[in-house]
Amino acid sequence: MDAIQRASAYRDSDHLRIEQPIAFRMLRRILDRDQVSPAYLLAGAPGLGRREAALWFAMGLLCSREPNSERPCGECPNCTLGSSNHPDIHILQRNTNRATIGIEDVRNRIREPLSRRAFAGGRKIVVLPEAERMTPQAQNALLKILEDPVGQSTLLLIAPGMGYMLPTVRSRCVTVPFRSLGIEGFRRRMEDSIPDAEDAADLFTRSGGDIATAREMLSEDGAREWQSMAQLVDSLLEGGLSPAQISNWSDKLGGDPERTEILLDGISLTIRHAMNGDRVLPAHYARAVGILTRTGEILRANGNRRLVWEVCLIKLQATLH
Ligand SMILES: [Zn+2]
Repeated sequence: MDAIQRASAYRDSDHLRIEQPIAFRMLRRILDRDQVSPAYLLAGAPGLGRREAALWFAMGLLCSREPNSERPCGECPNCTLGSSNHPDIHILQRNTNRATIGIEDVRNRIREPLSRRAFAGGRKIVVLPEAERMTPQAQNALLKILEDPVGQSTLLLIAPGMGYMLPTVRSRCVTVPFRSLGIEGFRRRMEDSIPDAEDAADLFTRSGGDIATAREMLSEDGAREWQSMAQLVDSLLEGGLSPAQISNWSDKLGGDPERTEILLDGISLTIRHAMNGDRVLPAHYARAVGILTRTGEILRANGNRRLVWEVCLIKLQATLH
């Protein structure tokens, strides 16, 4: 590990210590006591540093130093390899052509590497970002691995919340909670891209304080998409969408399965923004969230995308207008 990488490993833990003190204390204590569970669920919204924390923790688990010393040390042979090069750390990146993580991924990319001998003779670690995208079948396959672990292995699942995992999987994981950043933490994180305090406060409300959403809103494509979302919600509030327009919007929304979660979140946040501006009653907002949640469930179960969106928009218009 060169000086820059070492500095960045320390910066990761600094970030974590300042912004996520509960998660940091939990992970630090596990490293200090060396009492390691087979699986952890790092639960919280995207953009809160869950992945950095998982990789820092993974390095801490593999570090050759004694427990109760600053692990990861950044200097031992294991730390020197770094989390992206260490052969005992496997990161299951989702195949971007598919919206879900399937049973084959769990078999080939979790069970298979865990069944091999550890390179450094110690623990093997699998990091699973976007664990919420596992199909129920994939989660059941994962459950089998958790029930019958091979050798010394640790799974680090990353998901927006505990509710995204089957209760059977959840009960086998130690949950490490990542809390939303307050306005101050949000402003600090976004300082580079949005220095003005008032703009930052506005973005904080519009993004629901979610860093990943906020960054997306600032990108050129993102800004265009959010503008079109605001247009859609405006029309829904005015009750002005004709059947032909609803059909057009459904085509647009249903086009790319990859965008489903972003679109559902985006519509929900835009309606919340309208509620904050007194344009939507809280009770109607709650009902709209229910409609969007149900829509997400049907879309994840591979319903007819266009039709599901059409029903969703008709219901939203009836609720919000
Ligand atoms: Zn070390």
